[in-house]
Amino acid sequence: MDGATHHEGRGAERPSLYVVATPIGNLADITLRALEVLKRVDAIAAEDTRITARLLRHYGIGAPLIAVHEHNERRAAQKILQLLARGNSVALVSDAGTPAISDPGAIAVALVRDAGYPVVPLPGANAALCALSAAGSAAPHFLFYGFLPQQAAARRREIAVLKTLPYLLVFYEAPHRVIASVTDMAAAFGGERSVTIARELTKLFETIHTCRLGEAAAWLAVDANRIKGEFVLLVEGAAETGAADAGAARRVLEILRRELPLKQAVKLAAEISGGKRNELYRIALEIRKGVSGERP
Ligand code: SAM
Repeated sequence: MDGATHHEGRGAERPSLYVVATPIGNLADITLRALEVLKRVDAIAAEDTRITARLLRHYGIGAPLIAVHEHNERRAAQKILQLLARGNSVALVSDAGTPAISDPGAIAVALVRDAGYPVVPLPGANAALCALSAAGSAAPHFLFYGFLPQQAAARRREIAVLKTLPYLLVFYEAPHRVIASVTDMAAAFGGERSVTIARELTKLFETIHTCRLGEAAAWLAVDANRIKGEFVLLVEGAAETGAADAGAARRVLEILRRELPLKQAVKLAAEISGGKRNELYRIALEIRKGVSGERP
């Protein structure tokens, strides 16, 4: 704790860039440390200064704001570097949640780090993790994808790439595309996978609904209110990868065994399928047993 707060104290030895997570809806979801840093820094670099001004007003904070949106991040980073060079500390925030997560921030952070100044992360709200914490998914791994492409053809191509991944898939989605996205996913992944639709997290109309992908579009369309606001979609990953791989390896082995001795067939099948030799040997013995009734 001492190490973490050491360079934040008054009279800090080195000017630093603090990357500060802010609420994703409920204004109370901000850490004590974030408020302390926002009060103390010399300037706050914000994605949209009007949105951040509202948060700062709420907490009676009056630091000067610099705009750092997608299109001026490099220029804004130069301003941040000038402030740091003059011995000032700066906080970086986005409109909501954690900067640089589907938000501007990464370019400024990289330039500040390259210039040799400390970059200090202050953890806090993030929509993806907030949704994951309440989804009740037992999946041991997840893949944070963020926003899918806006155009239908590009979106479908991307969804096709994700189809075989055995990880819970985490998407951010805009309200006017959420039905199209779940429809495309149901078509590509099959309707049986589960999806958790997490909408307006931490806000008045917070909704967390889990159903089959094949039912999601209809559930959303039932009530116009269900497609209002901000969305995180958590989609079950591909479950049958192992079984599908084993099936393909078995088929390769069956074909090779028609022409080759067992050992050679296993060796080639391992090269072709990328499977483990031990496992393929076991399958080959199973096949032999099935075909000839021989004991392995
Ligand atoms: N940096 C943010 C974070 O840490 O979560 C994400 C910013 S990204 C531009 C905004 C997207 O995050 C929204 O379109 C939505 O998909 C998701 N999101 C943000 N706030 C949310 C909320 N309260 N409920 C559900 N999704 C939210």
